[in-house]
Amino acid sequence: MHAFLPRRMDVRTGHGFDAHRLELAPDPAEGDMASSGLWLCGVCVTSSLRALGHSDADVALHALTDALLGAVCAGDIGDHFPPQDPQWRGAASSLFVKHAMALIQSAGGRVNHADITIIAERPHVSSFKKKMTDHVASLLNVPTTYINIKATTTEGMGYTGRGEGIAAHAVATVIFGEKEHP
Ligand code: MG
Repeated sequence: MHAFLPRRMDVRTGHGFDAHRLELAPDPAEGDMASSGLWLCGVCVTSSLRALGHSDADVALHALTDALLGAVCAGDIGDHFPPQDPQWRGAASSLFVKHAMALIQSAGGRVNHADITIIAERPHVSSFKKKMTDHVASLLNVPTTYINIKATTTEGMGYTGRGEGIAAHAVATVIFGEKEHP
């Protein structure tokens, strides 16, 4: 991946989208928490559902990772973490966000703000929003007042409405070039 070093202040917005299939979780006794619960923004919101995926399938952090990569023009999550690579099996998706943050920092950038929308008929995540916000703020190294997490349904329509899947959009604003590069 290329790195760019802007010479003047340069504010960029990245967008990410992700979707995963949802299913009833297996008995937690049969597997570890990462594969048996539903993870959103680094928080396990229910143990009765899980999103299918190679990592912990945290759809919100995958969308956020792609938003961050978009802001630094560094491709997408699959370029950096190929799903067929066994080392990412069951991985905590915070690791992907941290990788994107390292790319931003090495390009002289800092995150200013992120906004995440989770799309699902169930589960309801409102009671987890504070915990999610705290986790995302710490990953992005910003105050919690610069992170917004919201959730919506599609009123019974489509794959999210039927409960077959869960999706997320994320937008991140990143500021580059605040410091002069040599
Ligand atoms: Mg994904």
